[in-house]
Amino acid sequence: LTERLQNAIGKLKRKGKVSEADVREVMREIRLALLEADVNFKVVKDFVKNVREKAIGAKVLESLTPAQQIVKIVNDELTKVMGQEAVPLSKAAKIPTIIMMVGLQGAGKTTTLAKLALKLKTEKKARPLMIAGDIYRPAAIDQLQSLGQQIEVPVFSLGTDTSPVEIVRQGLASAAEKKNDYVLIDTAGRLQIDEKLMAELAQIKALAQPDEILLTVDAMTGQNAVEVAKGFNEQLDVTGVVLTKLDGDTRGGAALSIRAVTGKPIKFIGQGEKMTDLDVFHPDRMASRILGMGDMLTLIEKAQQDFDEKKAVEMQEKMRENSFDFNDFLDQMEQVQKMGPMDDLIKMIPGLANNPALKNFQIDEKQITHIKAIVLSMTPQEREQPDVLNPSRRRRIAAGSGRPIQEVNRMIKQFNQMKKMMNNFSKGNFNGMENMLGN
Ligand code: GDP
Ligand code: MG
Repeated sequence: LTERLQNAIGKLKRKGKVSEADVREVMREIRLALLEADVNFKVVKDFVKNVREKAIGAKVLESLTPAQQIVKIVNDELTKVMGQEAVPLSKAAKIPTIIMMVGLQGAGKTTTLAKLALKLKTEKKARPLMIAGDIYRPAAIDQLQSLGQQIEVPVFSLGTDTSPVEIVRQGLASAAEKKNDYVLIDTAGRLQIDEKLMAELAQIKALAQPDEILLTVDAMTGQNAVEVAKGFNEQLDVTGVVLTKLDGDTRGGAALSIRAVTGKPIKFIGQGEKMTDLDVFHPDRMASRILGMGDMLTLIEKAQQDFDEKKAVEMQEKMRENSFDFNDFLDQMEQVQKMGPMDDLIKMIPGLANNPALKNFQIDEKQITHIKAIVLSMTPQEREQPDVLNPSRRRRIAAGSGRPIQEVNRMIKQFNQMKKMMNNFSKGNFNGMENMLGN
């Protein structure tokens, strides 16, 4: 999706003046891009119509920056289709808030349930209880229990011999007794929507009267995800959607269609298998991401979560003073390692997200270890004043770290580039959309 859109927009941007025909051509490209990304046909039609009307409006074409304005219109329209604003999780007036997770088998219900429990625990200081309501796959209960242990959230289970409805009944009683403020109900899924499953889910719904019924859909399944969302919503009247597996090579199209087709907000997105890989869904950020600007805000938020606050302030100071040295570099490496797989992060950086050079790019964790070994072989003076690193010192460092001299040289060069880049950032050389999309 992104590549095609970016090409279309790039073409437009290289023109100074934009004609109505140019707009039509771009709209044709956008239409194709959306269809290719599995966006629902009707959604595409409305979308293209709205953008075209706004873009052809006399003011846009006569302005000095028509291309930018069209990008903005596309961006705004994408945001609108996805619901404009983030919709928060409902909260019951009286505890507990009951959340029921539904969806097809393998969509990510159980994983998402545990991720959400962890989020509530860390961000809201909540005391959630998870109920193991999937009795059809024996491994499902083990899976939930093992996740529960990992995130230290209790799991209510009665094994596989009691009916799910009864399990939920007793689970709710247990939550009332222990005063849990959130109850999260895991349910079974099937490969396809079927009546028996729906009847069971409807029974659980009637009993538990959940504040939220979250439908989990796998973003990788494209159009099918939309069909599934439609089906579940018609039968259960869900309150929100969680779009999982947006970390993979995913067609973002599902995000666009689901809101439009079901009318229900996407509340969260799953972006990985780790328990911390669940993010609030922000339509504007997703729009930017689809347009290839990279999800900078999510990245920044992620960095803020994982970075040591004090270190971050220090680092800003250093960037301002341009006194970033190898000790800081080492700190950064360690912070980055803490943040999880680097290729996840890199994908979110504007300009890098769709850089063809990085298409198959992956940073090996081993590489970080090597870089650390090299820095650790430097003397304190060398770390603070990288300029003193002459060839003989470099040879000594290579020998000391057990890495080839070429690698040491490459690393120092990268360090200098990074330093330069930081210096640029700190000077505010970091303009919005135009720069990011402009090349
Ligand atoms: P369920 O059958 O709906 O309960 O699905 P599970 O929670 O068991 O998840 C199925 C698989 O998808 C598991 O291997 C999960 O680790 C994986 N999964 C779930 N959410 C995500 C996600 O956001 N990203 C990725 N990459 N994998 C996910
Ligand atoms: Mg499950």
